[in-house]
Amino acid sequence: MKYTYFTPGPAELYPTIYEHLQTAIDEQIGSISHRSQRFRDIYKFADEQLRTLLSIPSTHGIFFTGSASEVWERILFNCVEHESFHLVNGSFSRKFYDYANALHKFAHLFEKPFGEGFDSTEIEVPDYAELVSLTHNETSSGVQMRPTEMHKLKRKYPKKLFCVDMVSSAPYPELDFSLIDSAFFSVQKAFGMPAGLGVWIASQTCLEKAERLQKYDSMIIGAHHTLPTLWKHYQTFETPATPNVLFIYLLGKIVEDFNKIGIDTLRKQTDEKARMLYKFLDSSDAYEPFVKQERHRSQTVIVANTKEPSATVIARAKEAGMVVGSGYGKLKDSQIRIANFPAVSAEQVNALIEQLKR
Ligand SMILES: *Cc1c(COP(=O)(O)O)cnc(C)c1O
Repeated sequence: MKYTYFTPGPAELYPTIYEHLQTAIDEQIGSISHRSQRFRDIYKFADEQLRTLLSIPSTHGIFFTGSASEVWERILFNCVEHESFHLVNGSFSRKFYDYANALHKFAHLFEKPFGEGFDSTEIEVPDYAELVSLTHNETSSGVQMRPTEMHKLKRKYPKKLFCVDMVSSAPYPELDFSLIDSAFFSVQKAFGMPAGLGVWIASQTCLEKAERLQKYDSMIIGAHHTLPTLWKHYQTFETPATPNVLFIYLLGKIVEDFNKIGIDTLRKQTDEKARMLYKFLDSSDAYEPFVKQERHRSQTVIVANTKEPSATVIARAKEAGMVVGSGYGKLKDSQIRIANFPAVSAEQVNALIEQLKR
């Protein structure tokens, strides 16, 4: 049976991936050298397509890593001398904070209960924090922080570096990269690819900080994928180590497909499908939206409390060919999570709603 995956990563593959994968195999992408012009063209293409999609200015570089969680470590190594500040309201935002502690940074924390979100007015960034770490979409709880709130906060603290985890929402959030110094994502969420590639966007300011730490403060900024090394190779669209050439190729092609649709249309489609799902959950006796504040509700990962054990709901949907995610951690048995990524159409979301009604 062929399933439709509404899981929040790995997720449903974007439909055009089949033809791009076929082309990649036909063109022997898996065998080309990463020091060849063919590879440099592939990197350059992905770079151009991502710049168009996410409005990334020339002040920022685009780098490839193994995963998004690798980027947590890279940012902490390269952009924090002593202190970082983390908004934590779920498992993923907490892991970034845990990484900071593991690297012996002095990590400050402002924490909210699971299911609650952040507004700029309630946040005070500690004086000595060099980096503010924000999560656009907390995948474990289905809570978003609006980009407008992120931008307001940065305007209040212009000297601090701001980084945004946009792993389970990119390309949805409309980040203003004249305010956001760094952002990152993995491809197995809203880009509809298999797991195995992280994308790190970082500004010249981040690079300067890493260079300063390395040269003048003799800090260890890591050995693998340091920002100065990534940036140096990026000048010629190369990478320090042998990268996942196939996935960089596929990402460029899928982002090109996204650009053909247009980012405004993609965002509108996401809004419309999210509206359908929340409307159903609000009106249902068997489900309710987990996140109470509407402005904190995610458009890309919708979390619902279930009256029945969630395993029953999930099993029934699976029989009908639809895979939804379970709740996270302690809420595994009483919640479902539904990914609303570009790979699933309004018709498919409608079919899921009809199924959940049964
Ligand atoms: C999935 C996820 C990550 C981790 O991504 P990996 O590809 O597993 O490294 C980080 N942050 C958020 C919000 C996520 O949803």
